[in-house]
Amino acid sequence: MFHYDRDILIHSIGLWLDAGRKRDFSFVSHAHSDHTNRHDRVLATPATLALAEARAAFRLASGARKRPVREVDTLPLDFNSPLKIDGAIVTLFPAGHVLGSAQILIERDGRRLLYSGDFCPQKTSAAEDIEIPHADTLIMECTYGLPEHAFPARDTVIAQLCDFARKTLARGMTPVFLCYALGKGQEVMKILAEAGFAVAAEGETYELARVYERFGIDFGRFRRLDSPVSPDEVVVTPSTEKIEMFLGGRRFRTASVTGWGAGAFSYRARRANVRIPLSDHADFAGLVEYVKAVSPSEVYITHGPDEFAYYVKKEGFKVGSLAEKRPV
Ligand SMILES: [Zn+2]
Repeated sequence: MFHYDRDILIHSIGLWLDAGRKRDFSFVSHAHSDHTNRHDRVLATPATLALAEARAAFRLASGARKRPVREVDTLPLDFNSPLKIDGAIVTLFPAGHVLGSAQILIERDGRRLLYSGDFCPQKTSAAEDIEIPHADTLIMECTYGLPEHAFPARDTVIAQLCDFARKTLARGMTPVFLCYALGKGQEVMKILAEAGFAVAAEGETYELARVYERFGIDFGRFRRLDSPVSPDEVVVTPSTEKIEMFLGGRRFRTASVTGWGAGAFSYRARRANVRIPLSDHADFAGLVEYVKAVSPSEVYITHGPDEFAYYVKKEGFKVGSLAEKRPV
């Protein structure tokens, strides 16, 4: 049903999946894949398209991007809305990774192929809850595909995050959460909003949160960090360099919020006073559970350690090699 030629191609309908190279027609699973403007035609959820557009606009306005992105033919597709393309039926399911992130199911001639994109099986605060369909063939990411990757329970992490904010404010300092501008930033903003904190967000994080708002996520009291922080505010930003001018002389403490903070990969976490292991991916156990839930007859893995194939086989599943799916 598919070929692998440095990217994955569903050849019967000419659709590439998260293609890294410029292609005629590609599915884009979520707005982290900074490839939306590269292809001639893009299939994605409305939220992914809106987030990608907001990121591009912010980067152009801030000077990070020199030229405006070229016009792209977009094909927005809502979750759970089957679309017929050349005799196949394509359906998107929420992946729970960031707002709008999608798995894609392609059905043709009675066969079902599922491509996971980045996914998070744990319930999050700001992204849609994952829905896992059954498929015959599964192509999945396995970023944390080694047993040592075990994330703590989400409630524990949320308590740790709020505790850090509360204690830092009580000491007369500004809590600064360091997280990616898309996804993790809004996740942390939502957690802080639910705990009643006032949030000042760095420019790109703020602009993307505005897109989340358009899709129904409420962040409570928050503002763009474009003037000095007040003593009761919590800052969310990708880096301290971007916001130093607004801290004035205030003392601050940083918390790096990343899945890499958990287990063996903590050295990857950025320099920070504390690390909070909040992930928007599946940990090892979550990946294995995902395979079981999809219950496929064959699995292909990508974006992660090759060793994960061993563990999938151990669970009784057949694992194929992408390298052997080259077009003949
Ligand atoms: Zn991602």
